[in-house]
Amino acid sequence: MTSNAVLEGRALAKFYPVSNGPFRAADIVKALNGADFELEPGKTLAVVGESGCGKSTLARLVTMIEEPTTGQLLIDNEPAVPGAKTRKAVQIVFQDPYGSLNPRHKIGTILEEPLLLNTDDSPATRRAKAEAMMARVGLRPEHYDRYPHMFSGGQRQRIAIARALMLQPRVLVLDEPVSALDLSIQAQVLNILMDLQEEFGLAYLFISHDLSVVRHIADEVMVMYLGKVVEHGAAADVFAQPRHPYTLALLSATPIADPTHHKHRIMLTGELPSPLNPPPGCPFHPRCWKAQAVCKEEIPPLEGDNVKVACHFPLEPGEKPVTT
Ligand code: SF4
Repeated sequence: MTSNAVLEGRALAKFYPVSNGPFRAADIVKALNGADFELEPGKTLAVVGESGCGKSTLARLVTMIEEPTTGQLLIDNEPAVPGAKTRKAVQIVFQDPYGSLNPRHKIGTILEEPLLLNTDDSPATRRAKAEAMMARVGLRPEHYDRYPHMFSGGQRQRIAIARALMLQPRVLVLDEPVSALDLSIQAQVLNILMDLQEEFGLAYLFISHDLSVVRHIADEVMVMYLGKVVEHGAAADVFAQPRHPYTLALLSATPIADPTHHKHRIMLTGELPSPLNPPPGCPFHPRCWKAQAVCKEEIPPLEGDNVKVACHFPLEPGEKPVTT
C-alpha cells in the first residue's frame, strides 16, 4: 500500500559483529533493533535518547552511509538504494559545524560542490544557486569568497544547512544540529530550519538528546533506548503524557522556561547497560522504578493506538515515580 510518506523505515535494524579474537565467535551488537516510522513532507520526526541508543545508527541508515542488516528503507514508496538518487533525496547536517566544512575551501566552492558532482549546471548557474541559498539562510553576498574559519559557529551551521539544501533534497537528517551552539544561537538556527521546512516542504529527521530543543520543532517523537524504540507518537501527546518511564525520566531532566513550574526530577540510577550485553526482558528494567518480575523476563512489545509504548506497565495520567 502506498502512503504520503517521503521516507519510511520498516523494521530497520543494524547489527555489528564485535571480534573476540581468532578462536571465539564474534559477539553481535544490536545497535538498532527494529525501527518502524513514516515521515511526510513538511513534518519533523524527532529521534531522542542517550548516546548509544541507536539514533546515530538510524541517521547513517537513512542517509545510506550504511545499509541495514535487516528491514527496509523506502523513499517515495520505493526501496532506497545507495547512489545519486538517494543522495539527492536525503541530505544530512552534522552536529559539528567546525569539522564538517573543508577549511581550505571558500564558502562558494563548498556550496557549489554538490552541484558540480551531481548536476550539469554551468558555473554561472551554480554560482547563482549558491548565492540564492546563502541569502535564504541569512548569509551576505560577500561571504561567498570567505573561508569557514572566518565565521561564527552559528554561521557555519547555516553554511552546512545551505550546502545540504543545494540539491533540493526532500528529507534532511539533522544529527544534533544545534547541540554545539550557544543557547541564543540555537534558537536562531532552529527558526531558520522551521522557515526552510515551510518554504520547501522539507521532511526532517531530527536526532537529539535534548528534549527542550525537540519540543520546539517536532511533530512526532520516537524515544529510543539501547537500540529499541520504547515510545513513539505525536509530540504533543508524548510531552503532555509520557507513557514510558524512560520518556518521563528524560522529560524530567529537561529545563522548562517557566520559573513557576516546579518539576519532580527523576535521577536514573545505574549506567546505560552495554549494548554488547543488554539485560534480558525489558532493557530498561535495571533502571526502572516500576520494574516487576515480568519485566526481567519478557520483552514488552511496542503497542498502542495513537502513542505506541513498549512497557508492561505504562504510566497512567499524572502518575509520578515512587522513588527518585
Ligand atoms: Fe519499567 Fe517494566 Fe515498563 Fe520496562 S516494562 S519500562 S521495567 S515497567
